[in-house]
Amino acid sequence: MPVGGRKQPPVATELENATVTSSLSGREWELPGMWNRMFESRVLSGYTTSELARISSLPGGESIEWCYGCGKCVPVCPVDLVGEYGPRKLHRKAQTGVNLLGDADLWMCTTCGNCLRVCPKEVDMIQIMPAAREAAVTDGIMPPELQDVFEKTFRQSNCLGENPRRRHAWTKGAGVPVRILASDPRPVDVLFYVEDYWSYHPRGQQAAQAFARIADAVGVDWAILGAEEKTLGDSQRTAGEKGLFEALMEDVVATLGKYTFNRIVTPDPHGFNALRKVYPTYGHNFDVLHYTQLLAPLIDRAEWAGSVEAKVTFHDPCYLGRHNGEYDAPRRLLASIPGVELVEMSRCRENGYCCGGGGGGMWLDGFNSDRVTERLSERRVKEAAETGADILAVCCPYEVSRFEDAAKSTGNEHLKVLDIVELIDAAMFPR
Ligand code: SF4
Ligand code: SF4
Repeated sequence: MPVGGRKQPPVATELENATVTSSLSGREWELPGMWNRMFESRVLSGYTTSELARISSLPGGESIEWCYGCGKCVPVCPVDLVGEYGPRKLHRKAQTGVNLLGDADLWMCTTCGNCLRVCPKEVDMIQIMPAAREAAVTDGIMPPELQDVFEKTFRQSNCLGENPRRRHAWTKGAGVPVRILASDPRPVDVLFYVEDYWSYHPRGQQAAQAFARIADAVGVDWAILGAEEKTLGDSQRTAGEKGLFEALMEDVVATLGKYTFNRIVTPDPHGFNALRKVYPTYGHNFDVLHYTQLLAPLIDRAEWAGSVEAKVTFHDPCYLGRHNGEYDAPRRLLASIPGVELVEMSRCRENGYCCGGGGGGMWLDGFNSDRVTERLSERRVKEAAETGADILAVCCPYEVSRFEDAAKSTGNEHLKVLDIVELIDAAMFPR
């Protein structure tokens, strides 16, 4: 009998006793009925499969159907560690007819990629989530916080809604000249794509200024776009605004086409991911590096005037590590700084814990707060503090403000949060 989407309790048809016969010796045993328990078959026809079919018919959503419920994804999901989550749960919801596009769970995945690493069926949340969210956004369904970010990005080409003309305001405090291509369009080796948080956020600007001093000191030939730069918008894409991402990409490619450079370097693992993995799917290919990959081979040129005498732990950004396979360049930089003692957290490298900022999570802490026991950034800061570190080192522009807030809210104010370039800068140019 159909059960309307709820699991049907099994009905036991149990004999009090049963006799079994050995096929080898012909010997017989009397077994109590519990050893011979049979069940009526469960009726599955009561489930509507239309929701599962709807998600799997979206381009990118296909693999949600491949889940066979093994549960391997659940213990590695950072959201499940502070709530109840994982692809298995989403698959089950869709399988039992829940409208995922209208469900708050749609916005909780940070697209960290840890489930895909372990899933035997290659259920790919990195494709499923943007596809399902795009369908929701097209229907006008999205958290208000996300709508606000999309509108700011649409109007000002940056997620913070800042004036595009102030993109390079940070260069004034760098202490070294920073070349802007619009006013000096000569060919350059490295086009440094600063992205939003290093351009506008006060803590990001400090990191950008540190990068400028280091790049200058180790002899990098580099320049920025300044006011011509627009966000690469990868987090807006994974949060469901593919159309906005594509419009930005057209503008970015047109701007890049005006100048001659060998490679693009960016501090933002999300922008790095867009240029390295998404742009090529549209036919736009660039040689792109994360800033740690640029500096790691050059760091032997650094002249250290001081040191950082501290125990430092490092947080692997999901979009640099798991998504793009770079774990060593940041560690090489940290190991080169005089005085630094690197201690690893138990979850690191391939199994690094997510800060909660990916896939639009950067803007959704408030929206998700009712469904988690603590923020992912708070959980991660506690893990960092457990190592006994004095400093939590990062190399993603999302993380400094997230972890500084989390250090305060979890009572770990003693833990300083610094970008790797700030640590290098402190040892090269002590004040
Ligand atoms: S690991 Fe893959 S197959 Fe197993 S429950 Fe999770 S999504 Fe489904
Ligand atoms: S991508 Fe990350 S956050 Fe999303 S379901 Fe998988 S493990 Fe969880």
